[in-house]
Amino acid sequence: MKTYQGSCFCGAVAFEADGDLADGTMRCNCRFCRKMRYWEMRLPDPDGFRLLKGREALAETPRAEADGLDMHHRFCARCGTRLWTEGNIAEMGGRFVMVVVAALDNASEAELAAAPVHWADGASDNWQCRAPETRHL
Ligand SMILES: [Zn+2]
Repeated sequence: MKTYQGSCFCGAVAFEADGDLADGTMRCNCRFCRKMRYWEMRLPDPDGFRLLKGREALAETPRAEADGLDMHHRFCARCGTRLWTEGNIAEMGGRFVMVVVAALDNASEAELAAAPVHWADGASDNWQCRAPETRHL
C-alpha cells in the first residue's frame, strides 16, 4: 500500500489516498466515463481518503440518469479537474471512494503505465464484464 498525493490543476484542492495502482484500476464505456474520460482506482478502505484542502472549491457533477444513487463525482469548480467519486451502494459492497488516477501527483509514468486496467462495460450496465471495444476510451 502506498499513500498517493492528489491535487487539481490549479492547486485549490489537494488530497491523500491510500491504495496501490498495481492492485488495479478501472475505465468504463458508460456515458459519464466516456465524456469525462474517467480512469479511477478504488481504495481498499474508503477511510484511506483524506481531503487536505479546498473543500470550498469542490463541485459535484449531477447524475440525472442515476437519480437515487448515492454516488458523488467531485471536481474542482475553479479549474475543472476531476478528483474522486464517493458513495454508498449496497451492490458495490457499501461505502466506497474511487480516486481519479489522472489527479495523482506522485505516481510515476512507469507505475501508471503498468497499472492493470479493468475495462468495464458500464454502457450495458454490466460493470463486471469487459467492454467489447476500448480503443476510443
Ligand atoms: Zn482547481
